[in-house]
Amino acid sequence: MHSHLDAILFHETTILSRLDELGRQLTVDYAGRDLTVLLVLHGSLFFAADLLRRINLPLQLTSLSVSSYHGGTESAGTVTFHQPALPDLRGRHVLIVDDILDTGLTLDSIRRRLEEECQPASTRLCVLLEKRRPRPVEVRPDYVGFRIEDAFVVGYGLDYQGHYRNLPLIGTLRKEFIVAG
Ligand code: 5GP
Repeated sequence: MHSHLDAILFHETTILSRLDELGRQLTVDYAGRDLTVLLVLHGSLFFAADLLRRINLPLQLTSLSVSSYHGGTESAGTVTFHQPALPDLRGRHVLIVDDILDTGLTLDSIRRRLEEECQPASTRLCVLLEKRRPRPVEVRPDYVGFRIEDAFVVGYGLDYQGHYRNLPLIGTLRKEFIVAG
């Protein structure tokens, strides 16, 4: 799979040492609060598994399955929720964990739905990657692993047509492996 990449942005050791820092910060910030971590599936799986083991606090875990890319390399502009009901988050301090902030449409719609329908005590956003690009909606993540240029990346949970999630690093895909259209 490595041979399908044209550049490696972050090796596993770099990612994990950044997660050490994020885990320490989250441990301080959520001390004494009822923390629920909401994973946005499937992209956040690897990130969350490594990050949550670095948060030295009791927490509850729940997840939400959404999609916005529908197999391509650009957002389709619509966010599809794959479960009709949201988890019970009333009164909880909710940390929404996602792989990457691109257009912001996904996290904006998740946060809005949670705040309208679930009455959490608070919601914050944590992403592994944030693309430097203009966004159609204003979304400010509270915790960011790395800021990157506006390129399509794979690995460490991020896929292209279902592949590359289990690459232990993050990189950009060579053009010949991206199907036109
Ligand atoms: P947004 O709604 O912010 O445009 O996109 C959110 C979702 O699109 C992310 O959670 C991720 O699943 C997908 N996405 C956005 N940018 C990339 C990217 O560069 N690579 C991959 N593999 N997925 C991306």
